[in-house]
Amino acid sequence: MSFVLSDEMLGTFVPILIYWLYSGIYVLLERFENYRFHTRKEEEEKNLVSKKTVVKGVLLQQFTQAVVSIILFNVTGDASGAATDSNASLIVLARQFITAMVALDTWQYFMHRYLHYNKFLYKHIHSQHHRLVVPYAYGALYNHPLEGLLIDTVGGALSFLLSGMSPRTSIYFFSFAIIKAVDDHCGLWLPGNLFQVFFNNNTAYHDVHHQLHGNKYNFSQPFFVVWDKILGTYMPYTLEKREGGGFEARPIKNYMNNKDN
Ligand SMILES: [Zn+2]
Ligand SMILES: [Zn+2]
Repeated sequence: MSFVLSDEMLGTFVPILIYWLYSGIYVLLERFENYRFHTRKEEEEKNLVSKKTVVKGVLLQQFTQAVVSIILFNVTGDASGAATDSNASLIVLARQFITAMVALDTWQYFMHRYLHYNKFLYKHIHSQHHRLVVPYAYGALYNHPLEGLLIDTVGGALSFLLSGMSPRTSIYFFSFAIIKAVDDHCGLWLPGNLFQVFFNNNTAYHDVHHQLHGNKYNFSQPFFVVWDKILGTYMPYTLEKREGGGFEARPIKNYMNNKDN
């Protein structure tokens, strides 16, 4: 029983549960056309994959990652880390969270960018995620299983190990990271959304990446935009009113032209 409810198991399964719960809220909200980046018609026309296939793909992805995580936990860890939580001060927890965020962002930026630059890997692996030209919340983890392992599982393991956080803290960290990933794909610009207030890397930023013209920009995910800015892959955009209601994250064209020249 203790194995079933161990922090390692919760750290594996709570984020999966949260993924579907948080996405479910967005399924209810996506009918509000006035907050959408793309119309429903655009979603139907541009996306190259059905919603049913996306759900199946995400479930396969989550299953694969859960199996690998459990194996990793069993090979590398023990459950004793949980005891350190009660002793950890807020400062220590904040430091662990920030370290894990930086580690995850760094890993994901370089892997994500490489999956775009390497034509073979893009064609056979990462293009699956980009079948969603118009992203929606539960499409966040619609990836090739190998991409999930490479970007999410390895990135998660690195951030966990480098930050020194306990398995219990990791439940909160991985839940936070998954909520952020879902939010970045929600395709809605809602008033009062704290992720959109506090993070420059948000759903508008990632929407630019999902568009065809954004394919070589805005690789940073899921938290910051630092690597894009340092390495010249940052695509600024303006948030405009879309014809017929809603919003549009419009890349600044001069910037695109300069980059292309
Ligand atoms: Zn991409
Ligand atoms: Zn995406």
